[in-house]
Amino acid sequence: MEISIRLTPYLKINKIKSIDVPKIKRVCPTHSNFIAKGEKFCPHCGAEIVNQEYTVKEELHPYKVFQAAGLQEDNLFTVEYLEGVLKPNHLPPYYINIEEQENMAHNLLKKSDLIQSQILWFKEKYKDYIIALYDAYDAENVEVCWGLLHYWR
Ligand SMILES: [Zn+2]
Repeated sequence: MEISIRLTPYLKINKIKSIDVPKIKRVCPTHSNFIAKGEKFCPHCGAEIVNQEYTVKEELHPYKVFQAAGLQEDNLFTVEYLEGVLKPNHLPPYYINIEEQENMAHNLLKKSDLIQSQILWFKEKYKDYIIALYDAYDAENVEVCWGLLHYWR
């Protein structure tokens, strides 16, 4: 594992929501605790095994949202150990490479134009992704950010 440090626009989903996912289990109508995988009849009472629908709560992962919207999943990466953070896989314009440059000083107070142009670039390049996330998690839970990402990869 390697450490990555980036100054970049990114997305933060403040509330990953859970959704009900429908499932089916095979049960005996009388012995519903008995789950019959491949069997046709209950070994306890001989009744026919039936399909029973149930739901489980599952976290709605961003990649599932992208999949459902027909968007390429690897354009915005979720970052391990950084819950709800999505990092672009492209470098923004005028990217400050703080991993490879040595002896540098960037006065970020004077970089507000650069920050704004990177945010605009991000919003435009990932427009469809952001809209899909707004639809899935509600706009107030999805934040476009600019700043420092420090993570393991
Ligand atoms: Zn039974």
